Amino acid sequence: MKTAEECFKILREIRDTSMATVGKDGTPRVRIIDTMLVEAEKLYFLTARGKEFYRELMANRTVAITGLNTQWETIRVWGKVKNVGQDLLDRIFEENPSMNAVYPGKTRDILEVFCLYQGEGEYFCLASEPIERESFCFGGAMSKKKGFQITEECIGCGTCQSGCPQNAIEEGSPFIIIQNHCLHCGRCFEHCPVQAIIAQS
Ligand code: SF4
Ligand code: SF4
Repeated sequence: MKTAEECFKILREIRDTSMATVGKDGTPRVRIIDTMLVEAEKLYFLTARGKEFYRELMANRTVAITGLNTQWETIRVWGKVKNVGQDLLDRIFEENPSMNAVYPGKTRDILEVFCLYQGEGEYFCLASEPIERESFCFGGAMSKKKGFQITEECIGCGTCQSGCPQNAIEEGSPFIIIQNHCLHCGRCFEHCPVQAIIAQS
């Protein structure tokens, strides 16, 4: 079972992660942003006050982050951020010394630190057979069920099981989807003859 902290640490190891915000016109924006620090189920990054990214964060305090490492592990996280000013700035520069070349000396005073403190996320590994998927939440957020579920309407015909690309369905009454191995592809949902499978998201 992957924890939020473990998944944040994978993002920290990847470091150059993709981070999405909401632009002024309501459409998505995405950039490569370094995960600078991970501590106590919180993820920290920074930006300069002059940047559009800063204004987007201040106007709509949500982000989505994703990263893929060399072991084909993907982490996706989305949630609320807050501006924590400059309290952690020196510490972040100590732990990320390459920042001194980008903002040397006093020029770091244009930077402010943001903290991702509440939200949800998902660990996904395509290198496992079958694939591995785990959800997590952090900072008091409630996890919402995703993917598909087989209901009591199941008549046990086995169509979904034989057609699942990851063998993620077990026989039973009703049949059961093994959520940790499910791609969320929806093939079982489309092929069930009695519409016994529901979409949860
Ligand atoms: S296809 Fe539908 S009815 Fe048949 S086993 Fe799967 S869930 Fe049950
Ligand atoms: S959504 Fe796709 S992977 Fe998941 S159980 Fe259904 S067919 Fe299998």
